[in-house]
Amino acid sequence: MGILEGKTILVAGVTMDTSIGFATAKVAQQQGATVLISNFGRALGITRRIAKRLPTEPPVLELDVTDPDHLAGLADHVREHADHLDGVVHSIAYGNPETLLGGKFLTGPWDDVAQAVQVSAYSLKSLAVACQPLMSSGGSIVGLTFDATTAWPAYDWMGVAKAGLESTSRYLARDLGPEGIRCNLVSAGPLKTLAAKAIPGFEDMESTWKDRAPLGWDESDHEPTARAVVALLSDFFPATTGEIVHVDGGYHAMGM
Ligand code: NAP
Repeated sequence: MGILEGKTILVAGVTMDTSIGFATAKVAQQQGATVLISNFGRALGITRRIAKRLPTEPPVLELDVTDPDHLAGLADHVREHADHLDGVVHSIAYGNPETLLGGKFLTGPWDDVAQAVQVSAYSLKSLAVACQPLMSSGGSIVGLTFDATTAWPAYDWMGVAKAGLESTSRYLARDLGPEGIRCNLVSAGPLKTLAAKAIPGFEDMESTWKDRAPLGWDESDHEPTARAVVALLSDFFPATTGEIVHVDGGYHAMGM
């Protein structure tokens, strides 16, 4: 028996098999879940091909988290495959922020910052509200952050967006807790994915991480992060909400 046996989970934000969402969908299926995945726009075709690489090919839904029509129609699209959701994974970040990363903090234009915050932070609320009608018996929402308590080299306005995501998660925990819906984040160390490739200087961060994390760190191994997400989706964290679980080899707890 897996820890997600009998549960239905939507994983939003799967493009490649390197996506953290892909690893999460895989571990969730291995743990017994029925999984649906989503992505948006031009990458949807890639997602449909990549979906075949999962142990069981899941339905692929179209969801742009900034599109009010997609959000309004999401529950009905899910109902074509499942009558409820037990869990929702938000594995989404703004994909193309060249103007906002790599030492661009002082010049990042507001329009791009606004889009980054909408796609990477506000969308956790949008996704949660869109899925709320499917979670009338409670459930678990899990998002992915990159520790926003400090300023990082190169991460710039994405760091600000992640700070917004972390706060959004706490407010969702407050407002959805009475309905039995938990909301937590996993704070992962640097992992090789499409989103990470867009960050200039990312490789420097990887080598520092390896040196400083007491457990070491493998930026090609997404499974520890996926397992933590799956644990938070399961019934093994029934009294935990508004929490951020670090999956970073212990890096965040070290001084110099
Ligand atoms: P990824 O494979 O690029 O996943 C990000 C996903 O967000 C992609 O599927 C992307 O779709 C999707 N997306 C972007 N804009 C969207 C929109 N408007 N509506 C719906 N989906 C949208 O990269 P990842 O690293 O796995 O990222 C997943 C999450 O983990 C992100 O929140 C990221 O910040 C977080 N995280 C990553 C790391 C890391 O080192 N990689 C570390 C900590 C946390 P497209 O590909 O079509 O743009």
